[in-house]
Amino acid sequence: MSTATATTFQPVIGVECHVQLATATKMFCGCRNEYGSAPNTNTCPVCQGQPGALPVVNRRAMEFGVRVGLALGCKIARHTHFDRKNYFYPDLTKGYQISQYDEPLNYDGEVELPLIDPESGLPRRVGIERAHMEEDTGKSIHMEGFTIIDYNRAGAPLIEIVTTPCMHSVDEAYQYLVTLKRNLSYLGVSGLNMEKGQLRCDMNISLREAGTTGLPNYKVEVKNLNSFSAARQALEFEIARQTALLEAGQRPAIETRLWDDDLRETRSMRSKEDAQDYRYFPEPDLPPFSIDPQWVQEIRASLPEMPDQRLARFLEEFQLRREDAEWLVDDADRAAFFEACLAGYSDARRVANWIVTEIGRAMNARACDLPELGLSPEHVTGVLQLWDAGRLNNVTAKEVFADVVESREQPEAVARRLNKLIEQDSGEIDKVLDQVFSEFSKAVEEYRQGKEQALGFLTGQCMRLLRGKANPKDLQARLKERLEQA
Ligand code: ZN
Ligand code: MN
Repeated sequence: MSTATATTFQPVIGVECHVQLATATKMFCGCRNEYGSAPNTNTCPVCQGQPGALPVVNRRAMEFGVRVGLALGCKIARHTHFDRKNYFYPDLTKGYQISQYDEPLNYDGEVELPLIDPESGLPRRVGIERAHMEEDTGKSIHMEGFTIIDYNRAGAPLIEIVTTPCMHSVDEAYQYLVTLKRNLSYLGVSGLNMEKGQLRCDMNISLREAGTTGLPNYKVEVKNLNSFSAARQALEFEIARQTALLEAGQRPAIETRLWDDDLRETRSMRSKEDAQDYRYFPEPDLPPFSIDPQWVQEIRASLPEMPDQRLARFLEEFQLRREDAEWLVDDADRAAFFEACLAGYSDARRVANWIVTEIGRAMNARACDLPELGLSPEHVTGVLQLWDAGRLNNVTAKEVFADVVESREQPEAVARRLNKLIEQDSGEIDKVLDQVFSEFSKAVEEYRQGKEQALGFLTGQCMRLLRGKANPKDLQARLKERLEQA
């Protein structure tokens, strides 16, 4: 009988994210940096890598790079330069990528996660090893049996954000991705749309025996993760796969694997290159340069209020419920939309709650972000104002708003079109009360004999005849008044 105790393993995870910077032009030439243009229309001799063409650094891209670095708590290099990373790939016309190797623009930062470390009782922090500047490649589009290439993306500015291998659970890695995206959304430097490739994540994962420190003697890189949930599933898959290999006494291969979203598994793509395989050397067409500390100071001063600060302010200034405030600050667009609504409506808690529930519902149903709904603050405040004025009730307000989300018309016009507006005509209510009193005289009698529940029944009958176009409070008050009369 075997008495060996099973070894337990601890994941060692590092994350690399490529973030496309939303500058008007590319990293080293004047071509437009634009998603969705006709293929191969935004190219020139520089980004095509033609002989004799010379790159020039895009100052705005560097400014965005510094913004990201500062927001990640990085040190900004005083002196930096670009390097050539040599490799052949069909979507890389030059045969090399201009990147940064030994002098990255940003280094030594950290990101605080909304997770408490059970040992220290402090929030978990993820170390940022570096955040360097580079250019994007073109895009290979695989057709049946052949591949076509669009070079519009070649030379687009990227910042690559690399963590230290400090994460030890799938949840930590997932929270890092969510927090990173949230923080970057406040900087206005990228569209961050994963489907458009504006944010791309690769994971490095290996396992070590629980209780040991130090890095394992192998590492697997997982690419092609097109959503955060794919990243989570890929990590879970790799932990299981590597655990099985290690338990069988084998060392997992050092390799790059691709996540297959349909099969929900990773598969081997190639054995991993070493840094030396790329034959990095300083880019001869771009001289090394210094970063002016004064310029960095100016960028630091222009940084926006970041999510943690904004959360504290929303709680303090507007007394929001914590869950509402957290959902709002989770994305810069949501937070900005909420504040824009306050220009036309003063009850902050009510607006916040409406955005979280009703707009959140619409976003979930369409699997989209708030800007894609195309709503203006007036669409929200208009509904709330009609409700406050007693012209919509809690049910019809939601019905009207659901239509506003579809039609993007103003709430009052929608309420009229749907015939939901409550006309303050007490004559009509009295007529309906007469009808209900005669039709349901038994319930009326019961109420008068002390059966309180009959009131709810009678209110419901009135509401039905009024087709919901009544303020329930007013209606019930009038109903009670009549019941008490005779
Ligand atoms: Zn170009
Ligand atoms: Mn890269």
